[in-house]
Order: sequence, then structure tokens, then C-alpha cells
Amino acid sequence: MTRQFENPANGYREEVGFGASVGTFFFGFIYLAIKGQWRHAAAILIAIVILIGALGPPGVMFIFVIWVGYAIAAPSIIANSYLRNGWREVEETYSSNVAPPVKKNDTKKCPKCAEEVKFEAKICRFCRHEFTESVEAPARVEVPDTALLQQYGIASQEGEFVYVGMNNLTRRFDNADDAIDFVKREKAALSNKS
Ligand SMILES: [Zn+2]
Repeated sequence: MTRQFENPANGYREEVGFGASVGTFFFGFIYLAIKGQWRHAAAILIAIVILIGALGPPGVMFIFVIWVGYAIAAPSIIANSYLRNGWREVEETYSSNVAPPVKKNDTKKCPKCAEEVKFEAKICRFCRHEFTESVEAPARVEVPDTALLQQYGIASQEGEFVYVGMNNLTRRFDNADDAIDFVKREKAALSNKS
């Protein structure tokens, strides 16, 4: 995993990843020193001196363990030092891999005159044909079933449905269904009574 860090002062970027492990494995304290990790480089050097001094050649084994440990830890050691120094971690950018923006089909064919017009056009510039991309749902126009209304004795007057029921009581309804419902209920009530 490669992490990228940017120096906010100058925009300079450094990558930290597997390469740090490889570099530390092969070059040890030299690599760490180059990367500015002086204390870790010094720690390895001191460990070499102490371990070889104390244990002689068998000390090489311990040094090897430390060496490999540093190689494994190197990416996070270096990454942490960037963060400590005020660098900020940036999202990896695959600038070379980024596909060029797909060129949108920016024209369309007018269905009326077959000329190519701009994709966003609402009106054809050749024949004034209007494009209706968003087909609006047609407003529900209530067409009263006049035969049915007549059957129930409902009159349609200026958009209202008028019914003169029991005791010559006039009822007005906004829609035919309500009027018919009312008449049905009234008729049902009457037939129950008789
Ligand atoms: Zn046209």
C-alpha cells in the first residue's frame, strides 16, 4: 500500500510504500538516514556496535532480526515522520490512469426535420420543433360520465355536481364520484326504510 504525503509549504509530494521496506532491507541505516530518520539510523548503528561487541559473530543474528524489523516498519516510520513534520496525507492520484472525460454526445437529431441540433436545445433551430424530454404526466381531466350522472339524477353545473335529494335538499359536490356515492347512500337508506 502506497501512501502519499504532501508538504503544505511547497506542495512537494513523497510516496511511502513498499519501496521503503525494500530500501531499508538492502541499505539499512543508510536508507533511513537518507530519508531523514537519523535517530533510527543511529539506533541501528549503535545496536550493531553493541551486539557485535557483546556477542561477537552470533550478534549478527540479532542484528538481522532488528534489520528485518526495521524493513517491515520503515513505511510507517517514514509516514509518521511526514505527519509529525506537518505534511498531510493526500489521496493517491492516478493521474496517468485517469480516463479522459467521456465526450458526451452533444447533439441530437431533430425528429421532425432530421437536422443535428445541440443536445440541450429545447427548440430545433431549423424547424422550431419543440423537444419534450420530460413528458409531463397529462393532468387528470375528470370527464364525468353524463349517462351515469343522469341515472343518479345528478346535474353537472359549472364544474360542480348538484343533486337535489330528500326534502328537496340541494347538495353540491366537487367531483362526480362523491356525488354518486352520496346518492347511492341516500338511495340505500331510503330502501332500508321502506
Ligand atoms: Zn427540426
